[in-house]
Amino acid sequence: MNENIYKIPTINLGTLEKKIERLSRRAAKLGSPDVGMEILEGYEDVENDDGTVTRFYQVRVTDQAPRLNGWRFVARLQHLGEGAWSCTQVQGNVIRAVPGESVPERFRTAEPWCEHCNVRRHRKDTFVVARDDEYKQVGSSCLADFTGHPSPDSAAQAAEYLIQADELCAEAMNDDWLGGSGGPTLLRTEHYLAYVAAEVRRNGWTSRSTDPLRATADCAIVTMQLVGKNHYTSDVQKPLERDWEKAQRALAWVREELAARDRLGDYE
Ligand SMILES: [Zn+2]
Repeated sequence: MNENIYKIPTINLGTLEKKIERLSRRAAKLGSPDVGMEILEGYEDVENDDGTVTRFYQVRVTDQAPRLNGWRFVARLQHLGEGAWSCTQVQGNVIRAVPGESVPERFRTAEPWCEHCNVRRHRKDTFVVARDDEYKQVGSSCLADFTGHPSPDSAAQAAEYLIQADELCAEAMNDDWLGGSGGPTLLRTEHYLAYVAAEVRRNGWTSRSTDPLRATADCAIVTMQLVGKNHYTSDVQKPLERDWEKAQRALAWVREELAARDRLGDYE
């Protein structure tokens, strides 16, 4: 069971889902249909300095990798070889573990051994499988016997997709990931309305149909985000105390009076 939970900003959620779906389809071709992601219930909103809100969802990689007789795939061990050890003075194996699995310490320095057929051969990779708390190191030709995959290569590859799905989630936690995928921008209502009030105070109100390039609603957002990022702004553009008050009154009016009305005009 993969216990890793990732906090993904909404802006990355769509791209992440697409990429995981692609892994899932590849895994299905190998007979591992269940690499996927699950979005857990609920979300967390974080208010940014620029008046926008970043909404985070919790995501988990689902990993019902095929098992045979209760054995599950745990890790791939990449053996650097004795030559490599003496050159780099590094002793040990590179461990690529399936998300949520921890690998016993002894495998860090294990030789390329197969505990199934008891043969030590020259191998670049071996694999760790487990049943409950019992761990075994096996060679690729014996791996299929444990995981139930038709071939050792597909067993290793299916596990690799699982590892990649986990890595994708970890990357997608960063809201700069791939430049974002164009999810919705959320605004702190009161913060935004204060900028609207300031905009109206300085330039009057302009509807989008009057002048699509200078609509008050849009100018206020641009100013709000520029001020938040400290770009090309002066104090003149920031809301005054009375703009904040006006924003609060407008919000109260909308939430209390307007919300109670049955019919609304266009402006309302
Ligand atoms: Zn073997």
